[in-house]
Amino acid sequence: MAAQIPQEQWAQVLEQRGGNVVYKKIPVAKPGPDEVLVNVKYSGVCHTDLHAVKGDWPLATKIPLVGGHEGAGVVVALGDLVKDVKIGDHVGIKWLGGSCLSCSFCRTANEPLCPTPDLSGYTVDGSFQQYAIGKAAHVARIPKECNLEAIAPVLCAGLTVYKGLKESGAKPGEFVAIVGAGGGLGSMAIQYARAMGLHPIAIDGGAEKEKMCKELGANTYVDFLSSKNIVEDVKAATPEGYGPHAVLLLAVTEKPFQQASEYVRPHGTIVCVGLPANAYLKAPVFDTVTRMINIKGSYVGNRQDTAEAIDFFARGLIKAPYKVVGLSQLQEVFDLMSANKIAGRYVVDTSK
Ligand code: NAD
Ligand code: ZN
Repeated sequence: MAAQIPQEQWAQVLEQRGGNVVYKKIPVAKPGPDEVLVNVKYSGVCHTDLHAVKGDWPLATKIPLVGGHEGAGVVVALGDLVKDVKIGDHVGIKWLGGSCLSCSFCRTANEPLCPTPDLSGYTVDGSFQQYAIGKAAHVARIPKECNLEAIAPVLCAGLTVYKGLKESGAKPGEFVAIVGAGGGLGSMAIQYARAMGLHPIAIDGGAEKEKMCKELGANTYVDFLSSKNIVEDVKAATPEGYGPHAVLLLAVTEKPFQQASEYVRPHGTIVCVGLPANAYLKAPVFDTVTRMINIKGSYVGNRQDTAEAIDFFARGLIKAPYKVVGLSQLQEVFDLMSANKIAGRYVVDTSK
């Protein structure tokens, strides 16, 4: 291993479920034979990281845990079996840190469905540290010309919404409602929707998010905090008032998941992406049948989706707002996120 890799590094560690993260020094891990060690420069902060802190999903995290799964950095060490990643390459630590690559899901490019995944920042340590481990087969390949702080949120938020939009089946020229449009995934979704030739309708709360969504290119903004009739407002934003062809549900509360079937266009598709704790889907059977509504889930994306999402970014098509703060300030970011006060994404700089 190269001499410049330190024995110890700064990290944010969750020591107790539901507690605060602790900024402290921990040892730098060594990569296994099929792994790389990444000097993480920047990491986006996803709402999933907050779910991990709160422990509000029916899936246990490791404890103690280093969270984070939007880590962009530079490869500094390689395992013996790694052939197609080089020292100095720019790569990303993403949510799906590893999968078996031999089950029928992995074999058919559905690797997020692998029954034995490594989930970065959840079941294995992630990118809220200066040096993180990733499986060589799974780290995202980042072209050298891409700005590492700006691309960090693409590694989960960008990839996930790009995949969700593909899963929706919406075609260029059609309308898509983006629910939670002012958040990290939502701001990316407006940009990807535009780049894919779709008309985005943004739904979120408050004037700051309205301003951001409109600047990013949303046709219409529906404020869920002040709208007297969200269903009518969303339908009114579409041609002939039939409703959007697709709905991308990114919110962290249950109510919009129940509401979407009331405004989606007949034969339209509702794609569930957000993961509110203890939430259920509910839609009237009569309307679902007679209006031929499709309801489905979408979960991150595979390695090819990752390469495509990064390619959109590399071509200059994706410019979503982010704020950079030090890794030492991660708890403050979680506090703002808990209060729904973040427009766009926060990115932490691991050197501060
Ligand atoms: P975020 O906190 O940045 O954004 C969530 C947004 O939802 C906020 O702007 C909030 O104001 C808005 N919102 C809350 N209630 C709303 C309502 N009733 N109507 C409209 N908007 C509402 O979170 P994020 O990082 O964008 O993540 C969103 C969700 O997606 C989280 O649950 C996260 O775990 C999940 N996620 C899923 C996948 C996947 O693969 N399916 C991947 C990444 C994240
Ligand atoms: Zn995420």
